[in-house]
Amino acid sequence: MKLFYIGFIALLIIGEISLKVGLFSASEGKLSLPENYYSIEDFKIVKKFDAHVHINSRETHFIQQAQEDNFQFLKIVVDRPFGLSMNEQREIAVYHLKNFPEQMIFATTFSVDGWDQKNWVENTIKGLKKSLSKGARAVKIWKNVGMDLRNENGEFIMVDHPRLDTIINFLTENNIPIIGHNGEPRDCWLPLDEMTFSQGYYASHPEYHMFLHPEYPSYEDQINARDNMLKKHPDLKFIGAHLGSLEWNLEELAKRLDKYPNMNVDLSRMSNLKLHTLNDRQKTRDFFIRYQDRLLYATDTSIGASMDPAELQKRIHTGWKNDWRFYATDEKITLRDFGELRGLKLPREVIDKIYWINAVRILGIS
Ligand SMILES: [Zn+2]
Repeated sequence: MKLFYIGFIALLIIGEISLKVGLFSASEGKLSLPENYYSIEDFKIVKKFDAHVHINSRETHFIQQAQEDNFQFLKIVVDRPFGLSMNEQREIAVYHLKNFPEQMIFATTFSVDGWDQKNWVENTIKGLKKSLSKGARAVKIWKNVGMDLRNENGEFIMVDHPRLDTIINFLTENNIPIIGHNGEPRDCWLPLDEMTFSQGYYASHPEYHMFLHPEYPSYEDQINARDNMLKKHPDLKFIGAHLGSLEWNLEELAKRLDKYPNMNVDLSRMSNLKLHTLNDRQKTRDFFIRYQDRLLYATDTSIGASMDPAELQKRIHTGWKNDWRFYATDEKITLRDFGELRGLKLPREVIDKIYWINAVRILGIS
């Protein structure tokens, strides 16, 4: 009886160990039980969410492709000095939302016109309430705060300015997430020959190339202001657009995710993620597994009018599918000018989170 008992305990222990080994191996990707991973063929059957899209047209080709590829998405309205005005973008969002309430949600924004006027805060909250009543589910703060807006003395207004606190408090109390595009990629502050991905853009847009404008706030100023805003608003649901402008270094990003539990980031910096993977696949994969609850799949796709519909749909579909290949499989992928890498082959549960579950939790979709 005693022997039997010892044997039974031993069996229990062995069972426990093999269970642990099984789990460990699955998360390391060594024991590749097929059911733990998605394949390229699973692309269409899995529910997905693209958390960063701009649609500047009443045409529906993009939305049709989203239906076809099993995607829902967040359309983001931006207050920017070019292209469609903020109000036109918002009207388009409301128009599409009426016709495709199951396919999309939208994020509104606010203008900083009249920033110095006494009732700016009050009017801004009034405007946000109106947008929320029309279906907006999040609010975007763009880089114009920090890189363009100045006070009457010509000093830059940063995103941790006390005047924004009342607005951020209003959003926090109402459980409305902020999407923060604060600052720019670090490349923007570097000389052209030290940039990783942005040489082409900044060579043709010297006006936005901060390396040439040392009188503007530095990259560190932008990151510090954003961090300080998060410190002041620990309960704010926050999504840092474009990997929170820390695209160049996953360790720096990890530090912020550890420090600010309500900070999340969208993944719309694919080239950087591929480069991290090319340099150190294991480290990049570990980052995704560790922060699987804080990452939202996103593309920053912009859709304008008068694009060739078939061409547009093909481009959207190919982009989405290539990203799926990168996250779900370990197929070979080429990063132009850098070399070849293998996809991350993240476990199913991580894919489900970055493509769907995190968006459900943070943006309140269903
Ligand atoms: Zn964008």
